[in-house]
Amino acid sequence: MSPSHLSAAVLISEVGPRDGLQSVARTMPSADKRRWISALHAAGLREIEVGSFVPPDLLPQLADTAELVAHALTLPGLTVMALVPNLRGAEAALAAGVHKITVPVSASAAHSLANVRKTREQMLDEVRRIVALRDERAPQTTVEVGISTAFGCTLQGLVPEDEVIRLAEQLVQAGVDETGLSDTTGHANPAQVRRLFKRLFGAVGAKAGAAHMHNTRGLGLANCLAAHEAGVTTFDASLGGLGGCPYAPGASGNVVTEDLVFMFEAMGVATGVDLAALIAAREPLKAGLPGEPIYGMTPEAGLPKGFVQGAAHV
Ligand code: ZN
Repeated sequence: MSPSHLSAAVLISEVGPRDGLQSVARTMPSADKRRWISALHAAGLREIEVGSFVPPDLLPQLADTAELVAHALTLPGLTVMALVPNLRGAEAALAAGVHKITVPVSASAAHSLANVRKTREQMLDEVRRIVALRDERAPQTTVEVGISTAFGCTLQGLVPEDEVIRLAEQLVQAGVDETGLSDTTGHANPAQVRRLFKRLFGAVGAKAGAAHMHNTRGLGLANCLAAHEAGVTTFDASLGGLGGCPYAPGASGNVVTEDLVFMFEAMGVATGVDLAALIAAREPLKAGLPGEPIYGMTPEAGLPKGFVQGAAHV
């Protein structure tokens, strides 16, 4: 059965080309990145974060983002997304013609200073400026914020839930279209995820955005399932779990796209993604970054005997 996007119940947002490649020190050649993005699109993914508009001396491995945006814009039906940390990045992203920009705003005061050298209040001001620029130059472009360290922070430890929800409300007042919650450091557990997303829906309604879960402690899929039960329909994931922490061997970073798609499809929740084609999309990644560790239980085990994608209707 061929996947139908019209009937997809959840949106899998592939973040590997940005979140994954950002944490790999080597640079994947641009030609391999283009092949990889095309293969991800061919598998049925309809939202891809293709890169980040940051100064090339900070992240040389993402210096070709504008070129990748141009390539991704040729793929039909694809929402082309890029991360921007500030107004300057937003200017470049809008000039490149992205459909969606995503801005990381930390819930943790300590992480905000460490990550973007700005307080949360300064980041809110930056978001207001980004929204104003979008309104002026490209009103059709979506502005999304992923609230990082929403479930805990390596630097600060506990992040009070009231502060996360207040920040989400302030972001919506600042004009963002969607605000999601990110478990940047792998602190989240399913009960917490369900509780916090329910509060988010209560606070900002339809402007609640994606669940961005990490698999640091093996709870990535469980946390996605909990978010789904709370009403979330967009899930960030990275092919091959790219983005694993080099200091924690075997502990993968982002939720593995292949395993997440398998979980939903096995449950009868349509993703619009073809699993066999998705697993085949690992090839350009392997070719572009030979020897880089990539993860995933489903690609290793193969699909279960008798499993027919799209056949699970309960
Ligand atoms: Zn991530």
